[in-house]
Amino acid sequence: MAPNQEWRENKAADFLQLSKTKTLLQSDELYQYILETSVYPREHECLKELRELTEKHPRNFMLSAPDEAQFLSMLLKLINAKNTMEIGVYTGYSLLVTALAIPDDGKILPMDINREYYELGLPIIEKAGIAHKIDFREGPALPLLDQMIQDEKYHGTFDFIFVDADKNNYINYHKRIIELVGGVIGSDNTLWYGSVAAPPDAKMDERIRYNRDFVLELNKAVAIDPRIEIWQLSIADGVTLCRRIS
Ligand code: SAM
Ligand code: CA
Repeated sequence: MAPNQEWRENKAADFLQLSKTKTLLQSDELYQYILETSVYPREHECLKELRELTEKHPRNFMLSAPDEAQFLSMLLKLINAKNTMEIGVYTGYSLLVTALAIPDDGKILPMDINREYYELGLPIIEKAGIAHKIDFREGPALPLLDQMIQDEKYHGTFDFIFVDADKNNYINYHKRIIELVGGVIGSDNTLWYGSVAAPPDAKMDERIRYNRDFVLELNKAVAIDPRIEIWQLSIADGVTLCRRIS
């Protein structure tokens, strides 16, 4: 194995082992510099509290990165997002980012199969004074989306949809939310620990291998979808923005 490839595999393993590094950036020191200079000093106190609480949770590798959160916050404000959706909530870190960024009469429809995770962060979300914008739905996202698709009143009404749940459904989510979005879809983890660029026979953790093909499938589909304009960001584990254009 080429040294570079081995290094990347180790990097992916570190990432899975819940290291502090939440980015594919090749220098931990540079990433730390960004966090300490630009991100942490401006992080909302409730976001900080929720991040620190979640960092102690056994499944903390699911937590979004703080610089990604800052990016999402700016994006939501730039596009004047008001009506939003989130698929995959966990303890609510990206949910809180969204609820803080949208206006006081804005709405977020978060979905997650696991209410317990959501309830871990809920006291902090309530303390932040934004709980009135949130309409949490417990359950698998696909049937909820299918239900919404049936009703034309939801079509094209979401200004922003963040997708951060089970990767094996990413293409299924995309097929549905493309009908519901009027603005931008943000799909998380679309570089999947860097594995999307690895050769098919590369040695990798089974958890990474399992989802890689689903992420590749989404990436391939959005790249040729004429209804959207796309931007693959290399922030954190990769975020793909899809802007509905027709
Ligand atoms: N967005 C969160 C954040 O920023 O901290 C992280 C979300 S975590 C990576 C993925 C979440 O998706 C988990 O809480 C999991 O329970 C949820 N999930 C998994 N499969 C799901 C499904 N079929 N429908 C809805 N939620 C699902
Ligand atoms: Ca994620």
